[in-house]
Amino acid sequence: MNWRKYLWIWPILYFALGMFNIIFAWLGMIDFMLPLIFAIFGGNKYFCNKLCGRGQLFVFLPKKFKCSTGKLAPRWLSSSWFRYGFLVFFMAMFCNVIYQSWLVFGGVRSLRETVKLFWTFNIPFGWAYTLGTVPDWAAQFSFGLYSLMLTSAIIGLIVMVLYRPRTWCTFCPMGTMTQLICKLKAGSDKPLP
Ligand code: SF4
Repeated sequence: MNWRKYLWIWPILYFALGMFNIIFAWLGMIDFMLPLIFAIFGGNKYFCNKLCGRGQLFVFLPKKFKCSTGKLAPRWLSSSWFRYGFLVFFMAMFCNVIYQSWLVFGGVRSLRETVKLFWTFNIPFGWAYTLGTVPDWAAQFSFGLYSLMLTSAIIGLIVMVLYRPRTWCTFCPMGTMTQLICKLKAGSDKPLP
C-alpha cells in the first residue's frame, strides 16, 4: 500500500485534533520544518511533490466532489511580486505569533483563547483548551499557529473552488520559500569558473 496517497487526510485530521485540543496545533510545525529540511539539505521540493497533505487535499476534493471551476487563475496570483510579498506578509504574521507567545511568557499580557481568522476576526476557542494543561505561552503559540494554518487553508480552499485545484500552490509561502532555497542551492553548487 502506498501510504503517501492518503496524506490528504493529514490536514483534515490536524484541524479536527485542534478543535478537540488546541495543543495539537503544534503539529503544524511539521509542515513548516519538513519542506525547509528537504530544500536546505536535499536542494529539492520532495515535500511539495510527494509529502504535502494540503497539496493532495486540493487535488482530492475537486476530484471527489467536482468543486473546482478549473479556470485559470489571474496571472498576478503567480507573479513574483505577489508570491514574495505574500511570503513576507505570512512570515511577519508567523513572527507575530512567536512575539505574542513571548509576551505571554514574559507576563506582559495574558493568554487569549481565541483563533484569529484572516488576521482580523477573533473566534472564541476556549472550549478547545483547559487552562494550565501546558504553560500559557505554549498554549498561546497553539492558538496563533492554528489561526495561521486555518486562515491559509481557507484561502487555499477558496482559490481551489474559484480556479484550478492547486492554485494555492502557486503562491503558498512554503512553496515560494523552498523554491527560493533550491534556486540558491543550485546556484551555489555550480563549480566556480
Ligand atoms: S506549495 Fe505549499 S501547499 Fe503546495 S505542495 Fe508545496 S507546501 Fe504543499
